[in-house]
Amino acid sequence: MTHWLSIVVATPAHSSVAGPLTYASESALAPGTLVRVPLGKREVLGVVWEVLPDAGDLPLAQAKNVLGALEGLGLLSDTWRRLVGFTASYYQRSIGEVALAALPPQLRELSTVQLARRLKRVPAAEAETSNTINLVALSAQQQRAIAEFDADTRPALLFGATGSGKTEVYLRAAAKVLEQDTSAQVLVMVPEINLTPQLQTRFEERFAHLGKAQVVALHSGLTPAQRLKSWLAAHSGQARLVLGTRMAVFASMPNLRLIVVDEEHDPSYKQQEGARYSARDLAVYRAMLESAVKDGETDKPVVQCRVLLGSATPSLESWQATVTGRYQRLTMNERIGTEAGSGRLPAVRLVDMNHQPKHCTIAPPLLDAIAQRIARGEQSLIFLNRRGYAPVLACHDCGWKSECPHCSAYRVFHKIDRTLRCHHCGFTERVPRACPSCGNIDIAPVGKGTERLEEHIGELLAGVTRPDGSPLRIARIDADTTRLKGALESQLASVHAGEVDVLVGTQMIAKGHDFRHITLVAAINPDNALFSSDFRAPERLFGLLMQAAGRAGRDADHGEVSEMWVQTFHPQHPLFAALKKHDYPVFATQELKEREAAGMSPFGFSALVRAEAREQSVAQGFLNAAAEAAQTQQLPQHDQVTPYPAVPMTIQRVANVERAQMLVESPSRAALQRFLAAWQPVLHETRQQTEFKSLIRWAIDVDPLAI
Ligand SMILES: [Zn+2]
Ligand SMILES: [Zn+2]
Repeated sequence: MTHWLSIVVATPAHSSVAGPLTYASESALAPGTLVRVPLGKREVLGVVWEVLPDAGDLPLAQAKNVLGALEGLGLLSDTWRRLVGFTASYYQRSIGEVALAALPPQLRELSTVQLARRLKRVPAAEAETSNTINLVALSAQQQRAIAEFDADTRPALLFGATGSGKTEVYLRAAAKVLEQDTSAQVLVMVPEINLTPQLQTRFEERFAHLGKAQVVALHSGLTPAQRLKSWLAAHSGQARLVLGTRMAVFASMPNLRLIVVDEEHDPSYKQQEGARYSARDLAVYRAMLESAVKDGETDKPVVQCRVLLGSATPSLESWQATVTGRYQRLTMNERIGTEAGSGRLPAVRLVDMNHQPKHCTIAPPLLDAIAQRIARGEQSLIFLNRRGYAPVLACHDCGWKSECPHCSAYRVFHKIDRTLRCHHCGFTERVPRACPSCGNIDIAPVGKGTERLEEHIGELLAGVTRPDGSPLRIARIDADTTRLKGALESQLASVHAGEVDVLVGTQMIAKGHDFRHITLVAAINPDNALFSSDFRAPERLFGLLMQAAGRAGRDADHGEVSEMWVQTFHPQHPLFAALKKHDYPVFATQELKEREAAGMSPFGFSALVRAEAREQSVAQGFLNAAAEAAQTQQLPQHDQVTPYPAVPMTIQRVANVERAQMLVESPSRAALQRFLAAWQPVLHETRQQTEFKSLIRWAIDVDPLAI
């Protein structure tokens, strides 16, 4: 007997075969079965999505047969398929694209025989050894947070100051779930795994008694074979704890009971290509799906899956959800060790740059403070959001600047190898000997990047020595110094070992690291974000400064003397007033008021449509024409949705491609969703018009991070 199946395969959203395809099978295959199917001349991996009653309108002559099922693999769960289906429809992509991207790439390549071999290699569960970890005593506020979490079922936001012990709360919540049910699984998500090695180590140590195979990692830094192994362990239910980055939100985990999202505000949870999903938002949605199956008699969920978000500076969306009561808020505002009078948050000092010598990079009082730290044998951390030596190389005679010939951006001067590098398209050239425009040999760097800052600090502190008279040690950590595998780890290790007195870097050093001996943190030039056109810039700046402040003085001995210095031309800005008090709630209230007045997230909903073409006029013309068609065709909800005129993107040209975007806003999420779904085919049609044939690509970004 022939069975008809709808099967999803990896098709890009913009191809003509975006939906599931119909295949025939001689054996009955349940939804969620992984199969191999013919597609054109290729053989591809697919997922059985639905069992169909008949072939539908597919002519029998065109019907193709499923080539085989991947044997030995359990089904992908109903919940998993619903999560994928929701992601595809919410973020306006095809189900096949989302589903296949959520599976480990190696699954696509392995033959059935190879896969069977891999499956055999998944080690059998080891017997649990007894848990001999000596648990530290919880603080009163940790105990309270855990008790409150246990007593609720809503998504929870753990609002915990840096150093308040959030990780221990995650660990206890995970331990409880794993102990209560011997098949339960826990997913722990972190923004970037190599930036949070300490968190990973703590989880691995705490759950070492489960056996090695039961704690696995899932992130893009793994080899394809490692990733498949982790995925299989999670999918089979054998891995009890999965630690991963945003992609892990799609991990197949049949007995998922808890999802932890650490640093939930972090922008890296938003995927920036393909289906531009927010892993944080999907984690909340997934927990709801997992708990959605209700017992017919009691109407209570058959299983409960909780989600625990954590941050010292939550996203305003999550914060607002705790204001309205949709999420539970758990507050831990004290650093551990506060009772002893130490471990306090560092004092924030604002340096009014209007009253400092002109063109100085580091104000004299800050320089003094750093010198004092060195004299006491303490460490300082100085960060600047720009890598390279100088942002621009310029000729003061004719006004030539080191523009990138392929982008509407300047190439950055990297002194170490005397190159001009474009940070957008990667175009790199040797620094010219003379001005390419007028021949003047006196071309000079303008502005400062981390590389120049490191050099500059060395000059400024030339006379300063360490307490034992040995010379000062300055180090730099940024994307340039950590390119090689293991470089970041070894550089961090030397900071921890006390082999560095002054650490210079980009915001990457403000994240996640537990620097115990740093007693001074300084932000050199954070002002840009105060007046950015991007409405989330102040939120990110506040988060970054709070996080950076948290790096200082985590060692209880130094709590009294720790300081966070901020150089600014706008010391009166309300953001700094809230920062001085380490008062996120005050900042959030201010920002949310402004967002509400402007109808922006979380009070309004938006999507961006981006278009790329060789000419800016084609990209913009396409977007405007599609918006006009939406009006003339009276698409559903078009009266509740405002499309703004197309504009060039902030970096208008990258690698010789012109980029434009159109913002679409609505006070209603549902209205925006219905409109976008109806608008997709219109966008496809518009692209077919002769004048837009040269369009390179377009894509929709729902809930964009930056606009
Ligand atoms: Zn010149
Ligand atoms: Zn470029």
